[in-house]
Amino acid sequence: VHEGILRRQSLRESAARTYARSLPIVPVRARGLTIEGADGRRYLDCLSGAGTLALGHNHPVVLEAIKNVIDSGAPLHVLDLATPVKDAFTTELFATLPPQFADNARIQFCGPAGTDAVEAAFKLVRAATGRSGLLAFTGAYHGMTAGALAASGGAEDVRVTRLPFPQDYRCPFGIGGERGAEVAARWTESLLDDPKGGAPAPAGMILEPVQGEGGVNPAPDGWMRRMREITAARSIPLIADEVQTGVGRTGAFWAVQHSGIVPDVMVLSKAIGGSLPLAVIVYRSELDTWHPGAHAGTFRGNQLAMAAGTATLAYVRENRLAERAATLGARMLARLQALAIDHPCIGDVRGRGLMIGVELVDPEADMPAGGTGGGLGAPPDPVLASAVQQECLRRGLIVELGGRHSAVVRLLPPLTLTDEQATAVLDRLADALAAAER
Ligand code: PMP
Repeated sequence: VHEGILRRQSLRESAARTYARSLPIVPVRARGLTIEGADGRRYLDCLSGAGTLALGHNHPVVLEAIKNVIDSGAPLHVLDLATPVKDAFTTELFATLPPQFADNARIQFCGPAGTDAVEAAFKLVRAATGRSGLLAFTGAYHGMTAGALAASGGAEDVRVTRLPFPQDYRCPFGIGGERGAEVAARWTESLLDDPKGGAPAPAGMILEPVQGEGGVNPAPDGWMRRMREITAARSIPLIADEVQTGVGRTGAFWAVQHSGIVPDVMVLSKAIGGSLPLAVIVYRSELDTWHPGAHAGTFRGNQLAMAAGTATLAYVRENRLAERAATLGARMLARLQALAIDHPCIGDVRGRGLMIGVELVDPEADMPAGGTGGGLGAPPDPVLASAVQQECLRRGLIVELGGRHSAVVRLLPPLTLTDEQATAVLDRLADALAAAER
């Protein structure tokens, strides 16, 4: 069964398929951290639906919420009509948001994917400001539709440079320690105050509090506050893309809470749907000047996703899973940092909460001219990273790669991870590293 399905799908599916290339698994059952393939093999899933599964696979409260909607006879398709299920979701979501933000916020339900909500955010700030340009950061990832893609990556990123979209304003992300972050902030300031060719101010700035696909790059709190000041002083709406960082993942319910900033727009997806497709933007009500139908879509009313999302948000809040992610994540990070002492191929270990990245380097190779830009002592090693991913798989551990060079091993386990499971994950990763290094 297993081999037949893999063979048939590899022949029938698009050349653009992604995860299926590096993870030849045919999932047939899953629960919590564990996923089981058609061949009977079991894996610890630290990809978690690309960071979607805050409660792991098929959590009982999520399944029950879905069943309740089905048993109630509620319509499953409701366009964007008001329903009790949507009412409950909106109430729970607003209860989790920072009060200074939620008290004066509006919500727009978007199409099923994060990228759709990013497009909605862009349209919203363009309508509200009457301006068109967008300011985004190197290493960013906002999705695969045209506008979101144009705001992703950087000049060196193949996903972006092959597209004919203008990159209106591209600034360095605030990494490289306090000094690097301040240099980056000044870069942004000077760009805005003296835009090349006299370009007008942008309609908005979009940032991820921790870049995920870009290789797990946490923005320092100070830099986040600088970005808030810089945008506020120039009346530029600040859009926080919390598609991946939201719902406790980074050790706060929303990652903007680490720095205490209040953005103008929040883009939310992934975990808010409790493993089903759901994406929204929440924004300051003064921005709500776009016209009816300015952002529509047939699938804005996924009742099952809203119910699953309500259950997930409530469970994370009631069980303080954000705090749990903070303490467990810090412990995992410390163990990985200790591992780096014995493994020169570990160029960097970084993360926040249960969003963790291990950047692999080739300590024997010469640095390319201009360095890597990431403050590493050696060039990134995507070949080793890919080998580590395969060794992990052999040991029953699913990890994802990310970063500009695909040399960052990423861990995004569910927030329900137990201490024993965390140990098992790190044991397998350490074994895989030792095997791949040889
Ligand atoms: N923004 C961020 C920060 C993301 O991580 C992602 C997905 N990885 C997206 C947007 C796009 O979401 P989707 O894949 O659901 O379109």
